[in-house]
Amino acid sequence: MTTAVREISVFGDAIAYFNEAADLLELNPSIRAILTHPSRQIIFSIPFQRDSGQFEVYTGYRVQYNFARGPAKGGIRFHPGVTLDEVTALAFWMTWKCAVVDLPFGGGKGGVTCDPATLSQNELERITRRYAAELVEVIGPDKDVPAPDVNTNAQTMAWIMDTYSMHVRQATPGVVTGKPLAIGGSKGRVEATGRGVVITAMDELANMGINAAKARIVIQGFGNVGMYAAKHFRECGCNVVGISDVTGAYYNEAGIDIANGITYAQEHHNLDGFRGGEKISNGELLTSACDVLVPAALEKVLTAENAPKIQARLIVEGANGPTTPDADRIFNDRGITVIPDIMGNAGGVTVSYFEWVQDRMGYFWKEAEVNERLEDFLLTNFHELRGMSERHRIPYRTAAYMLAIDRVVQSLMLRGVYA
Ligand code: NAD
Repeated sequence: MTTAVREISVFGDAIAYFNEAADLLELNPSIRAILTHPSRQIIFSIPFQRDSGQFEVYTGYRVQYNFARGPAKGGIRFHPGVTLDEVTALAFWMTWKCAVVDLPFGGGKGGVTCDPATLSQNELERITRRYAAELVEVIGPDKDVPAPDVNTNAQTMAWIMDTYSMHVRQATPGVVTGKPLAIGGSKGRVEATGRGVVITAMDELANMGINAAKARIVIQGFGNVGMYAAKHFRECGCNVVGISDVTGAYYNEAGIDIANGITYAQEHHNLDGFRGGEKISNGELLTSACDVLVPAALEKVLTAENAPKIQARLIVEGANGPTTPDADRIFNDRGITVIPDIMGNAGGVTVSYFEWVQDRMGYFWKEAEVNERLEDFLLTNFHELRGMSERHRIPYRTAAYMLAIDRVVQSLMLRGVYA
């Protein structure tokens, strides 16, 4: 298994960061062996009926990487590129993300190899329900709690919640997070990842002695993460000078009218034709003049090629895995601070945790309460991470992995290995 997963570069990068931190922690080889193997990988067939009446069979996956700190937690992705290797890598990542913000969860991830663009809403519902039915014995509020990921959303979670509840014969909202509010979703969940990017960025700007009111922000990606990050940066008084999506990038030295950009993107489903800034390429956007750069679209966009040209002093990773290890070394050498994905975009999973807690209590918090608790969780753990980074004179990324691994190992050692 280990050989197979190492072939995929995303997992390769993740394991490289893990090993660096594990070396610094002088991690015992037996513990390292446990932590570099997934606890459970499930592969199953999803036969489903097309609207035409024909049957097709897709493949579904769920990987529960580690349970030392609690139930597995992680999204479900519907995409043609989904493989066991990718799902395993993403579940590995979730293990450290949950630990770095001190949530009582392990790591998991799931997916179906399919192209949702070719499927009707009814077909998606049938696939989702069969996916959930296949996993009834292994998911649940105390076992594994899925959430949305690429091409899945609140509606997908509602179908899973319903299918699971029908099978176990009781309403079980806590089986998934990212649900609609009407069936046990949490206020503040939609904006949480973008908000979390801004909470950590503002804290770091203060730490670096940069006046936020003068900070110029560039954001790649204008979806759930990028759009709300832009909105919250504006609310904090920062000047967002560049935004982009798959259709192109827009730069305006005087500052982009973000409220206008959001309305435009919501009306047109993308930024194509947006007139709030000069149109440039996505490549140019990354290297344009700014103080803070937020990659919030794709993996591997900051590479050895463009890293020497990046002008930002602070990079906050909204996306998962936007920086290659080579680029990361260049940023370290150039003194550019990077808040890594497992800290920078952890706002989403933190409010997912709050949703799970609220579902179990059956009592729901006001949005202000959710946001206050989110800030407290993120900053408490970010400050601990910063302390680790300063004590060991290591970049935030290595410190984040050290903090996360240390927490998982503590739980593992206390529980012991049942052998
Ligand atoms: P999304 O689908 O809502 O938005 C993605 C955005 O990226 C869109 O605006 C799209 O047009 C843009 N994009 C796609 N290709 C691009 C390209 N080549 N150049 C520039 N922009 C491009 O997705 P999202 O939920 O915002 O997720 C973005 C990233 O953040 C992903 O890596 C995801 O895994 C990560 N993330 C998301 C959450 C969450 O709560 N949504 C939480 C943690 C991490």
